[in-house]
Amino acid sequence: MTQEKILVVGGGIGGLTASIALRRQGFAVTLVEKTPHWPASGVGIIQQFNVLRAMQEIGVLEDYLAQSYGFDTTQGFGPQGDPLFAFTAPRLAGEHLPSNVGIRRTSLQSILAGKAHELGTDIHLGIVVEQWEDSGDAVEVTLSDGSRDSFHLMVGADGIFSQTRQTLFPQAPKPRYTGQWVWRYNMPRPADVTGIQLFYGRVNGGLTPLSKELMYLFMLSEEPDDFRLEHEQAHALMHKRAIHAAPQIQKLMDNVTDSAGIVAKPLEVVFLEDEWHRGRVVLLGDAVHASTPHLAQGAGMAIEDALVLADELASGDALEPSLCRYRERRIERCRFVNLNSLAIGDMQMGKRRDVDPAEINRQCVSLMAELL
Ligand SMILES: Cc1cc2nc3c(=O)[nH]c(=O)nc-3n(C[C@H](O)[C@H](O)[C@H](O)COP(=O)(O)OP(=O)(O)OC[C@H]3O[C@@H](n4cnc5c(N)ncnc54)[C@H](O)[C@@H]3O)c2cc1C
Repeated sequence: MTQEKILVVGGGIGGLTASIALRRQGFAVTLVEKTPHWPASGVGIIQQFNVLRAMQEIGVLEDYLAQSYGFDTTQGFGPQGDPLFAFTAPRLAGEHLPSNVGIRRTSLQSILAGKAHELGTDIHLGIVVEQWEDSGDAVEVTLSDGSRDSFHLMVGADGIFSQTRQTLFPQAPKPRYTGQWVWRYNMPRPADVTGIQLFYGRVNGGLTPLSKELMYLFMLSEEPDDFRLEHEQAHALMHKRAIHAAPQIQKLMDNVTDSAGIVAKPLEVVFLEDEWHRGRVVLLGDAVHASTPHLAQGAGMAIEDALVLADELASGDALEPSLCRYRERRIERCRFVNLNSLAIGDMQMGKRRDVDPAEINRQCVSLMAELL
């Protein structure tokens, strides 16, 4: 087993999965996360069978299933709340596993952080990389607590506004606002919400079960580039945005009672086509390909990146070809998710007419069914 030292920058979904996968391959892993406590923002997240497969691979499936809500069905409704379609997704991770789950972000974070810790990752919260230099033989790093160390590889898993990306590739495309915001709120789950329910019309939104007791409501809105949200206004503005929503959503808006529970975010994207690494520094997850949530695969792509990166690094080959193969193995899936999620958002905003979300979803399922 190799004892090469790897620094993971960022303790989100991608960075934690990378730490677990790299520890399982025998690397000595240090993880730095800038927030002093594990980030707990966000409500819930939808994940699909490819993530279930990954959770199985990193040894957390049991906890993951225990803390999530599994489902196979997706229902679509029109502007008046009329049923448009319903389908049952195939169980591509195995007949005994659901094809999708809804899970609270805090639960996912704590499952992954617990496993990374259990496997011996050296975790530092409230710490950032102050300076780094790739000497060719190692990455020399100074952390914000003043400590210095050298690593075989540094993994930038520091999200869409990645400082690592900015330093490594200053000319790379910057994150771009797509024109939509998403508003989310956790609330009690009505008995009939046993899968995803999607609502189309002037207001696009949906419901996702998270547990026996809980679900979240999400709603998209089109906002100008200069839209800013003072948090205390969130309650009033979310209700205003819901005025033209389907009746089911309007009724559930009675549960949206306070601004504090609302998580509202602009949708932003970035995609690096050409290079994902240079020398001994490599990027993964949103740092290199952040997508809108329309296909619910952003975190899935970060998780898969982590597994493929660990697999390539453990191949025994030299670092450069391993990192090139990592990008080659990942780029098609990540590009598909990035471009097609954007296309669905553009269609919702009336910017494109040639987009068929059902066909995109079908293609997405068959691409994700392919093994990594
Ligand atoms: C509204 C919304 C809904 C979404 N819904 C879904 C969904 O249903 N399903 C799905 O699969 N995906 C979804 N996504 C996408 C998903 O959230 C992201 O793709 C995923 O979180 C990416 O993981 P990551 O680890 O790459 O980045 P992040 O989760 O952003 O983690 C980055 C981490 O790095 C830390 N960090 C930042 N800078 C530094 C630094 N300088 N030093 C140290 N640490 C640093 C941050 O604090 C953070 O903890 C959604 C995204 C949005 C915006």
